[in-house]
Amino acid sequence: MSRYKNQYIVTAYIYDKRGRLLSMGRNSYTKTHPTMVRIGSKVGFRNQEKTFLHAEVDAINKCINLDKAHVIEVFVYSERSNTYCKSRPCPICSYAISKAGIPFIRYRNRKGNIIQVKVKK
Ligand SMILES: [Zn+2]
Repeated sequence: MSRYKNQYIVTAYIYDKRGRLLSMGRNSYTKTHPTMVRIGSKVGFRNQEKTFLHAEVDAINKCINLDKAHVIEVFVYSERSNTYCKSRPCPICSYAISKAGIPFIRYRNRKGNIIQVKVKK
């Protein structure tokens, strides 16, 4: 478990249609999060290491006007390699984003390009 500690810094930002920031979240490696466990069991995730709080779920939890949410943006930064890495939301976060009714996900891919995709219902 310790090999995952602080390896990645993940931040998620939720914006409305006009690009105004509604909420910001970041991942945490300090403790297992109940929302992550609950959704994890729904989507068939049994890996306990993945039940730490993810940035997307943190941003959703903190967002007080989710009805205005238009896009969630995710950045993953690897401290070890000093690079951006693959940062598509995991199945748990994808489920949470879909349930929260956020229509689009924007993330930075391996090549550093920003991609926006429609969230599957
Ligand atoms: Zn996730």
